[in-house]
Amino acid sequence: MMSEDRRSKHPVELASLEPGVRVKQLANYGTMVEIDINVPPRRYYRSGLEMVRMANVYHAEGSLENAYILYMKFMTLFLEKIRKHPDYPTVPAQMKAVNQAMLKEVISKAEKLKQKLLDHYTTEHAHYVENEAKRKKSEEERRRQERDDAKLAERLQADENKSHSHSNKPHLTHVDEWAVSPSAPPVDGVLYPDDFASSPPRAPLIPPSRPHHEESGITSVLPPLSASQSVRTVVVPSVLLSRFLTLAASNTKQNIETCGVLAGRLERDQLKITHVVVPKQSGTPDSCVTNNEEEIFYYQDQHSLITLGWIHTHPTQTAFLSSVDLHTQCSYQLMMPEAIAIVCAPKYDETGFFALTPDYGMNFIANCRQTGFHPHPKDPPLFYEVKHIILDDKAPVEMVDLRTTIVTMR
Ligand SMILES: [Zn+2]
Ligand SMILES: [Zn+2]
Repeated sequence: MMSEDRRSKHPVELASLEPGVRVKQLANYGTMVEIDINVPPRRYYRSGLEMVRMANVYHAEGSLENAYILYMKFMTLFLEKIRKHPDYPTVPAQMKAVNQAMLKEVISKAEKLKQKLLDHYTTEHAHYVENEAKRKKSEEERRRQERDDAKLAERLQADENKSHSHSNKPHLTHVDEWAVSPSAPPVDGVLYPDDFASSPPRAPLIPPSRPHHEESGITSVLPPLSASQSVRTVVVPSVLLSRFLTLAASNTKQNIETCGVLAGRLERDQLKITHVVVPKQSGTPDSCVTNNEEEIFYYQDQHSLITLGWIHTHPTQTAFLSSVDLHTQCSYQLMMPEAIAIVCAPKYDETGFFALTPDYGMNFIANCRQTGFHPHPKDPPLFYEVKHIILDDKAPVEMVDLRTTIVTMR
């Protein structure tokens, strides 16, 4: 039966929905975009580029729903939300022009995808309706059989009682009230034992774990989409850590921090770090500031890389996120929920893979207006050791050191 495979990917509940409703649900995910007016609009423009990059990958890989959601997000962000940003007028005209061109492309891609999804859902829904009819029919059959079984059992019981009552007279006469005597013709629909063998198998057409909603109808089930429901795995090449420490060694010796951007690609729903881009920077024993972000972006655009987090050293301290680090991490995580902060503390031989706690930490830091080093409450925790990473011993990584490179942009 062709529907088995389909069902394992899409719960039956989804196929039960009208195709238009399902597309609408996806579109709704896409409109769940909030902008933070404290984040400069240009960051959103950056993020928009990466959004489209990811959507194109999903599209190429056949994850049409994820692609559609991301295109919708892009449209929501740039047709609507970003225009309400108080600093919107300061966005350079050239940036807006690039974005407009991309918007045009995205709108037409989303339109085509929507049609594809509608067609796909229509087919699924037709199968569902067909299966549902079969299921109802066999359910009816089953109920009827149960009723008949009960009747038969009762009748056999009655017969037995009758024969008993013949032998020892007394008291079970009321059984005869409905009894069908053995000689009577079979009551309509009654199955005799022989018929059981030929009766249809009773295996349910729907997996038993599925609750029955015949009366209530099914409306509240959301599509199981990784893009919107849970974080994707970030693959970290193990070799990245030692290579970064080597690159940072001379700074580390002088008690100066070194930082870099973790960049990579989306592949089969995993975010793979493939590059560490080390920008021109100014470090101190407990901080590190990038000097020319444009160069990082330029490099990433040339290589179609998306931003997956950042890495920095703590030359004298343990691995943790300082108050300044928390704010840096917040800006990464606002754009990419999976973004991580790797902290290397060679003096203590420690490496931390951190992120802000998705609800509390993100909210707290996004709303904290202080700058420089400042105290934050420690409880509940603002950050945690992430679980959504895999260290890959075989994956290669490219170290891109822009500190000593003269980058000519276009
Ligand atoms: Zn730090
Ligand atoms: Zn703060």
